[in-house]
Order: sequence, then C-alpha cells, then structure tokens
Amino acid sequence: MNKKLEQFAAKYNFALEKNRMHGTFNGYAVSAYGWSGMSTICLVGIHVFLGTKAGEVMNQFTLRLKKQLRLQQIGLDSSGVYFAFVPMTMGSMLKRLDEIFSAVTECLRSLEIDGSVCPYCGQPMEESIEVEDMHCRFRAHEQCFEGKRSQVQEAEKAEEELPNNYGRGILGALVGGLLGCVIFVILYMLGFVASISSFVGMVLGAVLYSKFGGKNNKVKILFVCIVPFIMILLTFYFCNVYTVAQAMAEEGIMGSASSMFWLLVQENEEVRSAVMSDFAVTLLFTIIGIVVNIGWMIGQQKKISSGMKKV
Ligand SMILES: [Zn+2]
Repeated sequence: MNKKLEQFAAKYNFALEKNRMHGTFNGYAVSAYGWSGMSTICLVGIHVFLGTKAGEVMNQFTLRLKKQLRLQQIGLDSSGVYFAFVPMTMGSMLKRLDEIFSAVTECLRSLEIDGSVCPYCGQPMEESIEVEDMHCRFRAHEQCFEGKRSQVQEAEKAEEELPNNYGRGILGALVGGLLGCVIFVILYMLGFVASISSFVGMVLGAVLYSKFGGKNNKVKILFVCIVPFIMILLTFYFCNVYTVAQAMAEEGIMGSASSMFWLLVQENEEVRSAVMSDFAVTLLFTIIGIVVNIGWMIGQQKKISSGMKKV
C-alpha cells in the first residue's frame, strides 16, 4: 500500500482499504474512494442528513465550492452529498482531500447541519450499524438503511417491468448510424479517410437508442453495435463503388461499377492496398466505438442496490 496514503489515513484515524477509506472529519462522516488501476478519479461522500437544507447545501456547492475546490459530478442522495475530483498524483490527491474535507465540513457547520445524526432520517443514533451505500461506508440506523434498500429495489423492479420498446430503440440506432454515414460520405467526398465517422455513428446510435425510448439492457448493447456497424460498412462499400463508377464514366467504360470494384480489388495491387488500409482504419474506429459503448452501457446497467449492504 502507498505510504503517503497510509500516513494520511493514520493522521485522521480513517479506516483504510486498498482503494477506499472512511472515518470522521471535523465531526462529519466522510469517505473517499477510487484511485485504483487506470482510474485517477477520486469520489467523495459526506454522509449527513440534509433535510430542508438540501437546497442551501446544493447552492453552496454549485455556486462556491465547485469552483474553489475544482469539484465535479456534485449530487445529493438520501444519505448525503457526493462529488468527485481528478487529482494528478497520489500526493496531490491527499493534499486536495485535506482541503476538500476542511472546506466542505466547514460549510456544513456554517449551515448548522448536525454531523452526529443518522444520515437517512436525521434522528440521533443511539443504536447504529455500519452500512455500505453508494460504495461508501458509514454508520446509520439499520431500519433506515433497510427502508432505502427496499425502496431502491422496488424502483429497479418497476424499471425492469417497463416495456422494452425494441422498435423505437432500433429506430434510434438507425438514425444515429445514419448520421455517422452522412459524416462518412461528406468526409469521403472531401477526400479524407472517413474512419472517425464509424465511431460517431456507434456513439450516436447508443445515445439515440435510449432517447427514442429503448431500454438499457443487454439487447441494446447488441443493437447499437451491430446496426451502425452494418450501415457504415455499406456506406464504405457504396462510396468506393461510386468512385469507380465516376472513373468509368470519365473513361467511357460501360458496365457494372460494383463488379468493376471487386475486379479491381482482386487484380490491382494499388487499389487493393488503398481499399484495405481504409477498411482497416474504419474497422479500428468501429471497434473503439464498440468498446466505448459497451463500457458505458454496462456502467449504466449496474444496479444501485448491488452497492448497498450491511457491513
Ligand atoms: Zn435513521
């Protein structure tokens, strides 16, 4: 384990695991996690009951603390306030955590928010258990935690039972793919390798699948990857055939441009290598698009209830 991280946790008496820590800072339950592997983002939770002061807290965060502490993704939950920041190194992360915890708890104190009560209900905690919610650990009433968990599970079940809307979703994927194809054609006509458009088509396909009402499930991953992929491949093919047709017209050659295209790919070394290298780059961007889409959708498909447990 990183020495600086261990020293930081020891200084504040925080419980430390590989990529998360939690404890009490300035009288408030706080936690931080992230910074593992490739990800350098650090997510922070302050576990307090906001009640009627939620609006005021949000104002302080968005109008003042966000800029001052360079915070991102500020959000409120029934278990407190959550946000993220992106440090460059472990050293700078710990330095900024120090500043962030001080400024944020100071702000909560100035708004007279009590850090000793249950984050869910705001009542004193004579009896409490340690729970895990939003990937963070803190103390709360067992009953309050169970109440939130069953609410979340009910909402997730209701969402599962919603119609899949495959038709509308596929329409969205088609429109997204079509936009990618339009960009492809424009770039192709201007003489560029249009590879980036396969990536654009994939990502737009995924966004529009949901915007058109398709549900975010495993089927979506399948459709938004396959539909734009086939469309881009067809566009790639037709653009090449169109170029051949134009060349044939200029030379006064009669016959089918698509057969001529295949003939050229088979017989002419120069044409073959040009087509193959364009195709390889298009394929590469398509694969990048697929990887981005899948990572993104799987992240969104994770259930909130799966991050909730009693410790
Ligand atoms: Zn409670």
